[in-house]
Amino acid sequence: MLCSPLDAMPSATSKGREYYEQRGDIVWEVPTQNKVIAFTFDDGPDDDSTANILDLLKQYDAKATFFVVGNRVEKYPEIVQRELKEGHEVGNHSFSHPSFVRIGSNFMVTELNKTQEAIHTATGHKSILFRPPGGSYNESIVQHCKKSGLLMILWSWHQDTLDWKKPGVDKIVNKVLKNAHNGDIVLMHDFVSGSTQTYEALKIILPELKQRGYSFVTISDLLSYREQAKNYMEVNH
Ligand SMILES: [Zn+2]
Repeated sequence: MLCSPLDAMPSATSKGREYYEQRGDIVWEVPTQNKVIAFTFDDGPDDDSTANILDLLKQYDAKATFFVVGNRVEKYPEIVQRELKEGHEVGNHSFSHPSFVRIGSNFMVTELNKTQEAIHTATGHKSILFRPPGGSYNESIVQHCKKSGLLMILWSWHQDTLDWKKPGVDKIVNKVLKNAHNGDIVLMHDFVSGSTQTYEALKIILPELKQRGYSFVTISDLLSYREQAKNYMEVNH
């Protein structure tokens, strides 16, 4: 159930970040002049750790995006309902968390569809975002996503907290606070078995970034800044 950052490096595909970023097929971050940051949480939901994180987000008026695993959505539908009710966004993170570059296309489609169904059954909502397990992708996965109406979302390379490795609260805190830039997509996990480090780190990170003037937005909100930037470039260049 873990996201290895190594899988997300350009070697995972014959076409690199620049190619997919320019085409708008995959999003790593959204450079903007606005002081906004998108926190993302993978591998949940969990009735305990996700609920605690939701409480904290509420306390700091923070919106975030949860990339949920379908078989856990079936287990904890009420947590996914709560995520949406409290203004967060829910994205598809596969049904059973296999590496998508190692499975056939039929299995891939099943994983995508079963998770869409699980989210829909739990909430009546249809997800428009997908994050592949481990961040692994290739051309075929990108195309399947597009066909399924899903936009692939990865994360800022300087905001990979590695919280799933339980590196210690300080390391998670420092990673985010030292690297914080407008338009970042921060990678965290709301379910890491036996760890509260993500939660403890957020208790420090959220008030500090708020103090610095940042607001915390969902991925769809962040993407609206991408459109603004694009329009600005078109008008001014
Ligand atoms: Zn994951």
